[in-house]
Amino acid sequence: MQRPLYERVTVVEGDITEQHTDAIVNAANESLLGGSGVDGAIHRAAGPGLLRECRRLGGCQTGDAKITAGYNLPARFVIHAVGPVWQGGTHGEDDLLASCYTRALGLAEANGIKTIAFPAISTGAYGFPLPRAAVIAVRTVLSFLSRSDSIEQVIFVCHGKRAFDLYVDAIRELAGEYTTPAGPGVYFSKKRGNRQEVLREQVRAQLGTIEEVWGVRFVDKEHLARIIMVRCGDRWGADSVTAGLNSWVAVLGKRGDIEVPPGVLDRILDETLQRFSHR
Ligand code: ADP
Repeated sequence: MQRPLYERVTVVEGDITEQHTDAIVNAANESLLGGSGVDGAIHRAAGPGLLRECRRLGGCQTGDAKITAGYNLPARFVIHAVGPVWQGGTHGEDDLLASCYTRALGLAEANGIKTIAFPAISTGAYGFPLPRAAVIAVRTVLSFLSRSDSIEQVIFVCHGKRAFDLYVDAIRELAGEYTTPAGPGVYFSKKRGNRQEVLREQVRAQLGTIEEVWGVRFVDKEHLARIIMVRCGDRWGADSVTAGLNSWVAVLGKRGDIEVPPGVLDRILDETLQRFSHR
């Protein structure tokens, strides 16, 4: 069974350099030799090896992208995409912005990348209006994903709540639905990290978010996290289980200490695992 498109896109508020995806995308400039904003942060976190490799690439045209290794970053690859400088919107900016997303995804596909994180390209120093850029980013990514199954998850990493809300709205509008992966946006990469440890952290964080959002406290959070992990062993499954728990808590409408009855947890786990076994 194919996963719906809205499940393959996620929005998190955070720092792109900390994403544990297979690849992160850099909002680069044509020189590929580093700059301010996302670019500066990525080069600082990756270390000097990245600049050495970038020097050999001979720059990159606006609307295009190039790939390098991730060096000291948690991500295995960096895809350097060059977005347009905003000049009022009549200089092909929309198409150039869409093009750098498509080119970046094409490179990801060609390199077997399954999970990829994008910043809001062009919306900082390059001055592209964020609401317009968010719609173009989401539309272009959804369109690519609808044509190809190879990329499993695209994460839009936002600086600030305003950007986060704009992306979520764009996804709702264009994909029909948005499902919250309640976590802080730490994604498992094949490069490093103990899979179980990353997953455990993630499940804990997701349970913590549910507690915060609904003003509740799971009486035995560690036990819950352990059961979810043991039964799922795969991050997408775990996400769905915590999403199921989130709905249960929402419908329950209770505040304060709550215990999840074993029957409820079993039902959520069974539903999720059944769904994922068809993938
Ligand atoms: P550009 O030159 O393409 O406009 P910038 O790096 O100046 O790129 O900004 C692009 C967007 O990334 C802006 O919306 C900015 O708020 C955001 N941003 C800046 N630093 C980070 C970071 N470390 N992680 C994620 N997003 C960031």
